[in-house]
Amino acid sequence: MRVKPLLPHRAKRALPSRPRRAVPGFTVFLSSAVGKIAAGAVAFSLVAACLISFASLQSAGAGSAFADNEPAVDANKIGDLAKQRQIAMDQDGAEIAAKSSTETALANRQQQLADDNQAILNEADRLEKLTEFLWPTEGPLSPGNGYGMRYHPILHRYRLHDGIDITAKCSQPIYAAQAGTVVRVTSGYGGGSGNSAKIDHGKFNGDQIATAYLHMSKNMLKEGEEVEKGQLVGYVGSTGLSTGCHLHLSLYKNGKGTDPLDYVKQPVED
Ligand SMILES: [Zn+2]
Repeated sequence: MRVKPLLPHRAKRALPSRPRRAVPGFTVFLSSAVGKIAAGAVAFSLVAACLISFASLQSAGAGSAFADNEPAVDANKIGDLAKQRQIAMDQDGAEIAAKSSTETALANRQQQLADDNQAILNEADRLEKLTEFLWPTEGPLSPGNGYGMRYHPILHRYRLHDGIDITAKCSQPIYAAQAGTVVRVTSGYGGGSGNSAKIDHGKFNGDQIATAYLHMSKNMLKEGEEVEKGQLVGYVGSTGLSTGCHLHLSLYKNGKGTDPLDYVKQPVED
């Protein structure tokens, strides 16, 4: 019977009867259990490093190209983002255009208001001038011949002088102190008024106002005629109860004679 040698494995391999194959050192390393584990770890590390690097590149790329609040998206969504962004920009543009339009409208409105205000001022000025009565002929108020009681030079008695006398040259023109309607004319002696015309000017501050021009050498108006302020009434004369050329101007307030100087102001000499 053959006896099995009691040699350990290592010793058996070391037996000269089994010649060793020539193998590279690395193969020997891999052939060991430790070497296999180490190699696997290196390979795993390389793959992991690549993955991490790739992920970092993706993240960095996303961060630089898009806003932080936008997630890193796949390429399919970039087109949608661009569309949304364009829509938002269009809306911003529309808002800017609308704001600009509003500012233009405001500026136009302000200009319109300024123009209206100026028109109102002009109209107020025109109305104020409309209420002013013209001094009807060139010349000063005759001293002592204003409105009121006076000693009449012809009648030689005191009586009411129901108007004012304006010293004026014969035949100089007389103009309407205010616009109105001719309500009465006289001619010849005319009950002392001579050639005269009375013009109703309508109401001023609620009072009916009329003026009358007496002793004219010639009357240019007819009853019922519409007269503009400043229109020619006639020419200075001395017809009727008169001692010389002058203009007698009467003024009636609500039908009653009153002082013309309350309305008709003598021009101030320059
Ligand atoms: Zn008089």
